[in-house]
This record gives sequence, structure tokens and C-alpha cells, in this order.
Amino acid sequence: MYIPKNLDDALEYLDKNAPDAIPIAGGTDVLIQIREGKLKPKVLVDLSGFRNQLSYVKRIDGKIVIGALTSVAELDESFLVKDKRYLGFADVSAKFASPVLKALATIGGNIGVAVSASDYVTLLHVLNAQVKLVSVKGERIVPLEKLIVEKRTLAKEPNEIIYEIIFNETPENSSTAFMKFDRREMIITGYVTCAVYLQLKDNIIEDVRIAFDRVSGRIPGRAKKTEEFLRGKEFSLDVIRQAYNEVLPTEMKRKSDFRASAEYRLDMSKVMMKRALLKAKSRIEGGA
Ligand SMILES: Cc1cc2nc3c(=O)[nH]c(=O)nc-3n(C[C@H](O)[C@H](O)[C@H](O)COP(=O)(O)OP(=O)(O)OC[C@H]3O[C@@H](n4cnc5c(N)ncnc54)[C@H](O)[C@@H]3O)c2cc1C
Repeated sequence: MYIPKNLDDALEYLDKNAPDAIPIAGGTDVLIQIREGKLKPKVLVDLSGFRNQLSYVKRIDGKIVIGALTSVAELDESFLVKDKRYLGFADVSAKFASPVLKALATIGGNIGVAVSASDYVTLLHVLNAQVKLVSVKGERIVPLEKLIVEKRTLAKEPNEIIYEIIFNETPENSSTAFMKFDRREMIITGYVTCAVYLQLKDNIIEDVRIAFDRVSGRIPGRAKKTEEFLRGKEFSLDVIRQAYNEVLPTEMKRKSDFRASAEYRLDMSKVMMKRALLKAKSRIEGGA
């Protein structure tokens, strides 16, 4: 384990030693990967020493900025879970593992893991989030959608650290919701997860973004055809039903595994989508 003195030290160390050296934040995923022999780094570079520096949720010039080392527990204490527009963050936390895990797991680590069960990734997709990466060479900002290219694969150099997550503040007539369907609480993998962003004006869907744990690949993604169908239409159960019965199945390719069949997952995706949209609508109107 390398314990850097500060962020610059971590970046310099990674520059010289990655990919043999990899970052560790909360360690809730990477240590399991190592224990199971799926990952064999020579050195772990401990980012937790400068957690204070990279743990924040701020409003800056019309944007929300979240430090990569912000834990689930810290997000839970931020203004995000009190603002009706960002209640999707409260939903993710409510379904996230256990209190101990919430104290350790970071939002940057959630992106670093990059699997379908990365719940913040699913939510951040509907907020059109971008990610700031830093290395000794400087910084760059990439859309989250471009950063995660495949399961456990990020389009970033091994010497780059996820520094912060950025998304535009959303209008007052908008809200978010996240839903995870699982028979057992307190575990990582849901059968289906869904996040939505909804913007309504006089009951017309001004804008909508819908993400699932999986749409056609093995990573969280957006159901863009379904969104396109809904945009500009009046918000009604009939329209939502039409969207999930006629459009969603044209872009969603669910897989069967030991937990559930593809058909069941598709059916549950429809249910989750409807419930999440209704929840977001209720939030826009001042409900919980
Ligand atoms: C029992 C259990 C339950 C879980 N439940 C959930 C759940 O409900 N929802 C969910 O989404 N996840 C869940 N997880 C998965 C995991 O806790 C989350 O993905 C968590 O957010 C990972 O963050 P971390 O800080 O622990 O990452 P780490 O384990 O420290 O790192 C994960 C990966 O990201 C990289 N990394 C971390 N931080 C950075 C950075 N700043 N820059 C560059 N690379 C970085 C690491 O090198 C590593 O590859 C669960 C895990 C367990 C063990």
C-alpha cells in the first residue's frame, strides 16, 4: 500500500507506477476483487488520506459539483437529499447496502467500478453528468456516458484520478427518482434498477431522461428511444404505458441469469419505469 502525502504525491506516484499501482478509495469493491483473484495490482494507492480535500457537494455557477471521495453517508447529509430536484440521491442511498458500507463507499469509486450495479452511475446518467479527471499532465472533463465504455472498463489513462462529478442545476419544474427492485434488502445487485429525470410544464413532458442498470449492454445506460417518444407528450398513464409497451422493448435487450429471466426483467423494467416517473411527477408537485 502506498500512502501519498497529498493529491500531487498520489498523481506523481500513479504516473510512475500505474497500471501496477491502482487507486483505492473506500475499498468496498477493489478489496473484494483482489480477494477473489480477479485483480492483482502490485500496489494500492490510498486516496483516503486526502478525503477531506475531495469530499464535498457544492453549487458553483449553475452547476452541482461532487468531489469523487464523497461517501454515500456524506451525500446523505448534503443539500441534494433535501432538494426535491435531486431526491434520486436519497433513493440510491436508501437502497445502498448497509450503514458501514455507506460510510466507506465513495461516488468516485462507484464510477471506477463501472458495473450494472453501480447505482450512482445509473442516476448520474439521467443528470447528464460529466467527470473531471486529473493527472500530472493536467485535467480534462469527459461525459460520464463516454467515460464508461464497457463493464469494468473506463476510457481513462491508468495515471488519471476521478476528481469530481459535475452536472447542470436542473429547473424548478423538474425532479429525479431512482428505484431498485430486489427481493433481498442490503445487497448490491438488483434485478432491475431505473432512474428518471422528469421536467413538466402544464402536465406536458418538457424533458425526460430514463436510465436502467442495463439497456442493451452490460453497463448502465439510457433508454433514448423511449425518452424521445415521451418528450413533448402529455404526462398520462396511457402515454407511459404506450412508451414501455411499444418503444422500450425495441431498445432493451435483457439477459437471463440465475437470478431472473430476461422476460421477467423486461416486465419489471416497465414497472420500475412507470413507478419512477410517477414518483418524479409527485415530487415536482411537492410530494415525497
Ligand atoms: C456488500 C456490498 C454491497 C454493495 N451495495 C451496493 C449498492 O447498493 N449500490 C452500489 O452502487 N454499489 C454497491 N456496492 C459496490 C461498491 O460499494 C460501490 O461501487 C462503491 O461506490 C465503490 O466505492 P469505493 O470507494 O469503495 O471504491 P473502491 O473499492 O475503493 O474502488 C473501486 C474501483 O474504482 C477505482 N477508484 C476508486 N476511486 C477512484 C478515483 N477517485 N479515481 C480513480 N479510480 C478510482 C479503484 O481503483 C477501483 O478500481 C456494494 C458492495 C458491497 C461489498
